[in-house]
Amino acid sequence: MTLFTRDAAPLGHPYWWDDVTWPPLDAALPEQVDILVIGAGYTGLSAAIAAADAGARVAVIEAGVPGQGASTRNGGMVGGHPRLSWDELAQQYGADLADALFAEAGRALGWVQNFIRDEGIDCDYQETGRLQLAFTDAHFANQQRLAPHLIKKGGVDVRLVERAAMQDEIVTPLYKGGLVFPTHAGVHPAKYFLGYLNGALRRGIPVVANCPAEAIEREGAGYRVTISLGEVRADKIILATNGYTNRPFQWFASRVFPVPSYLIATEPLSPNLIGELAPGRRMMVETRARHSYFRVSPDGSRILFGGRAALVGIDLAKAARRLHRTMSEIWPELEATKISHVWTGNTGYSFGHIPHVGEKDGLHFSLAYCGSGTVLAPYLGRKAALQAVGSAEGETPYSKTRFAPRWFHPFARPHFMRAANFWYRSYVDIREASAAQR
Ligand SMILES: Cc1cc2nc3c(=O)[nH]c(=O)nc-3n(C[C@H](O)[C@H](O)[C@H](O)COP(=O)(O)OP(=O)(O)OC[C@H]3O[C@@H](n4cnc5c(N)ncnc54)[C@H](O)[C@@H]3O)c2cc1C
Repeated sequence: MTLFTRDAAPLGHPYWWDDVTWPPLDAALPEQVDILVIGAGYTGLSAAIAAADAGARVAVIEAGVPGQGASTRNGGMVGGHPRLSWDELAQQYGADLADALFAEAGRALGWVQNFIRDEGIDCDYQETGRLQLAFTDAHFANQQRLAPHLIKKGGVDVRLVERAAMQDEIVTPLYKGGLVFPTHAGVHPAKYFLGYLNGALRRGIPVVANCPAEAIEREGAGYRVTISLGEVRADKIILATNGYTNRPFQWFASRVFPVPSYLIATEPLSPNLIGELAPGRRMMVETRARHSYFRVSPDGSRILFGGRAALVGIDLAKAARRLHRTMSEIWPELEATKISHVWTGNTGYSFGHIPHVGEKDGLHFSLAYCGSGTVLAPYLGRKAALQAVGSAEGETPYSKTRFAPRWFHPFARPHFMRAANFWYRSYVDIREASAAQR
């Protein structure tokens, strides 16, 4: 069977890009600004908006087209809780910081909801809730053990779904139960991104495309940044390059590494079939290390199915076949369903599996959302900007987490990718094995 529809989008073209028209970007880059933001995704644009609202002269430079990174490519699942459990955080950082990181998730989600409302962003925000699907009985037992902790220690609203009740959520024999986060939601990520871009443009912030920062030097109390067209001077810099961090940001590139994630969109399906497959219509993520995540598209017409392959990228046709196979294992009804889109993007991981906001030699940053950035990227980007302008509101527990390098990570070179891939695989395998034992 041919996997793709006759009118499939070119390989690599995100489904989300079909629905948006990008505004023209014609502002010139000033020679001198108070704050230069590097990278135009959720982090960079939110940071720029916060800095401009605080009265700073700001500009944003982007290596390619604004939004071309993960911010218009993701699954559109909206949450914001740390990836690590409360116990894991408490073990690493102490109970107080674990509490603070969980409390920050609620504030971050609330801030995003207000931002969408206040800026009038039409981004198909749907409070669907998120369902974490237990792949084994041991995983469900672990969810049962963790749920009271999340409620009591993390203040998180969660609800367990016993196996017998799973057919109200998803119709497949594959999962042994699940955990619902009812306040989590779904968005159309590219429309959501457009909200940040338009917010920046409305404020008169120059957002300059095809303008990579090529070199960076201290000059007096500020910085001189070399770009292809010349130079720009800035008192302060905010680095917002996440999974695309590379030269010339060596210190950061040895702490944040790219993990590619892949998504497919099915051809349009009948509303009846979608209702039969996913009656709960939630954002769904698995507990197994393969980490499949999937959802119904905002218009209810298709299934969007994603997964992380490895640190070493694979070609898109192969990724599409793998994802289609996994999707058909979950829903055999979709075995003959064709695919209209397949695409990929880089998530940015830190070795501690937690984001970081801070300052290094006067260079401010917010990075490493570890695949959960629809809420934390703009929220923490704003925090980085507030720290840069010296506001006490910039305080966040994400500035107290460790941001450590690894010896094998000079840059995203093949030998590093192999070593990091080995590390990443071992890490997720160990996590899955230990989850299964708990
Ligand atoms: C396939 C996929 C699915 C995902 N699904 C979800 C999800 O469902 N829910 C969720 O919460 N998160 C998800 N994420 C993660 C989320 O998309 C990211 O965490 C978030 O978009 C990060 O935003 P950002 O602005 O920090 O980085 P990005 O949007 O990646 O932007 C970084 C930008 O920096 C630019 N840049 C890099 N170097 C330079 C330079 N030298 N000069 C100028 N510019 C530079 C890049 O070109 C890029 O545009 C997913 C990610 C991917 C890839």
